[in-house]
Amino acid sequence: MAKDKDAKDPFVTEITPRSQDFSRWYLDVVRRAELADYSPVKGCMVIRPYGYAIWELIQQALDKEIKRTGHVNAYFPLFIPNSLLTKEAEHVEGFSPQVAYVTHAGGEELEEKLVVRPTSEAIIGTMYAKWVQSWRDLPILLNQWANVVRWEKVTRPFLRTTEFLWQEGHTAHETAEEAEAETRMILDLYATMCESLLAMPVVKGRKSESEKFAGALRTYSIEAMMGDGRALQAGTSHNLGQNFAKAFDITFQARDKSVQHVWGTSWGVTTRLVGALIMTHGDDSGLVLPPAVAPYQVVIVPIGRDNWRETVLPRALELQQQLRQAGIRVTLDEREERPGWKFAEWELRGVPLRLEIGPKDIEKSQVLLARRDTREKAGVPMDGLIDRVRELLDEIQSNLLQRAIQFRSEHTQNAETYDAFKAAMDGRPGFVISPWCGDAACEAQIKTDTQATIRNMPIDGAAPAGGCVRCGQPAVASAWFAKSY
Ligand SMILES: [Zn+2]
Repeated sequence: MAKDKDAKDPFVTEITPRSQDFSRWYLDVVRRAELADYSPVKGCMVIRPYGYAIWELIQQALDKEIKRTGHVNAYFPLFIPNSLLTKEAEHVEGFSPQVAYVTHAGGEELEEKLVVRPTSEAIIGTMYAKWVQSWRDLPILLNQWANVVRWEKVTRPFLRTTEFLWQEGHTAHETAEEAEAETRMILDLYATMCESLLAMPVVKGRKSESEKFAGALRTYSIEAMMGDGRALQAGTSHNLGQNFAKAFDITFQARDKSVQHVWGTSWGVTTRLVGALIMTHGDDSGLVLPPAVAPYQVVIVPIGRDNWRETVLPRALELQQQLRQAGIRVTLDEREERPGWKFAEWELRGVPLRLEIGPKDIEKSQVLLARRDTREKAGVPMDGLIDRVRELLDEIQSNLLQRAIQFRSEHTQNAETYDAFKAAMDGRPGFVISPWCGDAACEAQIKTDTQATIRNMPIDGAAPAGGCVRCGQPAVASAWFAKSY
């Protein structure tokens, strides 16, 4: 493991306290835990091995779910001919400010400039138009794991970067009902994944017109709450209706022999989830990782005086082997550093369980286990150690989720009047649930006044009885407002 030049600090403390400056704290954790680094390309990050290992665990678990629900993976080109991107008017309008172009290649100016994909509806739609002839060809249920580029003015590692990694699902269906069912099924899948894997509760709902995906009929999102009370959009699922099918001429012969346009969906989650993880669970000592996505679930730290390599290390290596064979991700820190320094370093990296073993423990045939989430520390007999480790990892996973749910409920309130709404947004930040009239101008005014946006609205919720929190007109939904990332 590479060390920073100042890694000899007695304690790995160079982290700004969260309460002092949350944004600074976040950047400190990203850097000190070696999750990512800035690159020579403005706005683009390098994902370092420890950060990439977290992403891989998310990716593997999600890939399994995507496949379990009947989808298959494919790969489409990075470049999209400009003429294709411009076919769907709303889509191009939404994305053009963020698009990067290739104008020269092979030493010549290209006849048609190429878009570096900001998303792949245009190229995938073009291919679907070739592949779909009859209702028998439907549904198409594809996913791709890829990078995309969206030129950003202000960037922050994992949360908003010019290039990022994601998966994008693209499906085509025979009927509107099937497309809607797919869109919502994926939304549920994302929500379950965030809760079970990332221990991160999310609010599922529908986006307002102004916040929906450019070119979609409607967009659903999952919204999480970060440790500073700001909301973070953690994933989106779009019902594209027939918009892209019409733009790209994706037609099929229906069962009644008529020619119809397919009904589409697209959906994605990104490396932003790594940022979400940091900001949901982290504390002033650094990262706190849920065991399900921790590259190391257990770190073994040998304790001992000068001759620990002879007295303690052999037993520590045996334990490492046992844990590994039990399928637990484990590392052993045998560097020549003081144990206290190692403790701080692995706390910074968020390892859920620390296993300490010294000469006295060996005599007593026990080890010490320290939890990262609660910092509780207890002696555990070596007999039955594996079972105890498994139990504790499960407890940590569920404790982190409970803690995050608790935090969210403490930071969620209702406001019926605009004064109460503004006071809530000005005070302790979080979600504020308020009736809204459905008017985009009213939504924009709320944003101007308070910086808060509608994160989403309940999918099947009935219209609330009262009037819009700002304008008093009849409300169409109880919207979840928040300041967001
Ligand atoms: Zn209103």
